[in-house]
Amino acid sequence: MAQDTTTATPKIFVPEVIGVGEFASRLDLPVTKVIGELMRNGVMATINEQIDYDTAAVIGSDLGFEIEPEAAPEAEAPVAKAKLAEGEGEIRPPVVAVMGHVDHGKTSLLDAIRSAEVAHKEAGGITQHIGAYQVKRGERWITFLDTPGHEAFSALRQHGARMTDVAIIVVAADDGVKPQTKEAIRHAQEAGVQLVVAINKIDKEGADPQRVRTELTELGLQPEDWGGSTVTVEVSAKAGTGIEKLLDMVLLVADLEDLRARPTGPSEGVVIESHLDAGQGPVATVLVRHGQLRQGDYLVAGATYAKVRSLTDFRGKRITAADPGMPAMVTGFKAVPAFGFSYHTEANEKTAREAASASVRRDQAKSLGIKKIDASLLSDAISAGRVSELNVVVKADVQGSLESLLESLAKLRNDEVAVKVVASGVGDIAESDVTFARTAGALLIGFNVALSSSLKSLASRESVTVRQYRVIYELTDDLRDALSQMLAPEVIETELGDLEVLGVFKTTKAAVVCGGTLRSGRIEKGLKFRIKRGAEIIGAGTLNGLQKDKQEAREVFEGETCGMSVATANTIDLGDHLMFYSREERARSL
Ligand code: GDP
Repeated sequence: MAQDTTTATPKIFVPEVIGVGEFASRLDLPVTKVIGELMRNGVMATINEQIDYDTAAVIGSDLGFEIEPEAAPEAEAPVAKAKLAEGEGEIRPPVVAVMGHVDHGKTSLLDAIRSAEVAHKEAGGITQHIGAYQVKRGERWITFLDTPGHEAFSALRQHGARMTDVAIIVVAADDGVKPQTKEAIRHAQEAGVQLVVAINKIDKEGADPQRVRTELTELGLQPEDWGGSTVTVEVSAKAGTGIEKLLDMVLLVADLEDLRARPTGPSEGVVIESHLDAGQGPVATVLVRHGQLRQGDYLVAGATYAKVRSLTDFRGKRITAADPGMPAMVTGFKAVPAFGFSYHTEANEKTAREAASASVRRDQAKSLGIKKIDASLLSDAISAGRVSELNVVVKADVQGSLESLLESLAKLRNDEVAVKVVASGVGDIAESDVTFARTAGALLIGFNVALSSSLKSLASRESVTVRQYRVIYELTDDLRDALSQMLAPEVIETELGDLEVLGVFKTTKAAVVCGGTLRSGRIEKGLKFRIKRGAEIIGAGTLNGLQKDKQEAREVFEGETCGMSVATANTIDLGDHLMFYSREERARSL
């Protein structure tokens, strides 16, 4: 029973994730009403789409309901199956993310590890960047997430405990601990993953590894060689020194965890990269956690599934099976699966399809696949009216670029104007995107995605502006310009003259004929003025006619006396001051 009728405000129980249609029926409201309310809050969701609990709570309370969390049923998550009994399974490779402050050498270190440990041993080296690679140290493999910095962060933030076992925190020895270093450490600690600090650039002049150790101690990370438990390794990504020791240390801290996997049987794991490939369709790199993923398997990831058409390893080599710890690129998906989703295999196509349509799991509520109110937009909604928003619908080629884009767009704002992403997704621009954009009055932005000519003409029929980009900064520059145009122009007023009224000759409804002496400045026909009586401004007007010595005059200078005809809705009295001014509007930029 979803409804509790004993309280004044109807109380509705909602699970972590709920379909829009189901939510409407629990509220006993027409679904269009719920969709409308979602839209007002910047969530474009159709009847068949899912929203998360927080969104349902906001929408529900807007509609006059009290929303309470429904007790979650025992999660039948594949992850639960992943739990191994004591002693069961075999040691699997640790999964490592490299994090740290910008320019401290994350990319260089990933390259150095890759080339030191793989390229010279494997003929042909590495040809593919699939989001992860493996190196062998002695008899043991280590898997590195080779993601752009930002993704490594969100991987840890959202999926840390499932995706990463060890975080290498890179600190440049000549620069020390920086804000992003602290953030990386915090994320790693929150995710409960093991840490190894790589003190990089020790080849550089000005390198001061001891200072880095002192700074780490100040953060509560006492280095091992100082009696603490934080492992630090001095390296130079450039010279290739210290890399082997670093790998040994990674294995050492990984052994503090019980990293075992079931080596055979149905496969489970995580999607670590995904994109739409022009030739191959939806492509994803998965990291196998348990079992063996084989060509021909039915793999379910969130709401989509694949009959695995091909498997490719990080060297670009076709493989027939991938074992635990291995990253592998998979083709054959029906749609692009989202980054961070767990996957598991099913026995056949029918069960895979069913699992995909039924698979809205608790942890997926946190992913982008489910429509939700962006928390940063909520505060906007509250202060609505103050901030003008530029609505955009964003489509990007891969999850990684989408996330970076959304992060950049969130920064495009000030107190008056902001970009508001009303919908976003991975994949080419579709008809529904154009429709959403039209409904929301939004600009449709494509990043590295295609727009078919039929959709192009649909967009132009629907008056939807579509912009396509390949470079993030071009996109942000354009949007910054657009926002600048939305900013109210800066108004600059200059005082031009102060005239004291010494005679009022005729007053009609809309005009006054009067005379006076210009106490300061210079005035001419057409200028606007304010009427100042005592200290107060009591009205305004425009100077229509000007006379000096009964002669038509173009201008009057300080100290001169003149007659005037002015347009004003106010009265003008003896002793009033007419304060003349000019007004200039200057465009502002964000
Ligand atoms: P990221 O932003 O953390 O990925 O940093 P990068 O790997 O792009 O490195 C930033 C800069 O530092 C580049 O110019 C690198 O060549 C340089 N760099 C990286 N590692 C080292 C190192 O060990 N020694 C020296 N001297 N320079 C390095």
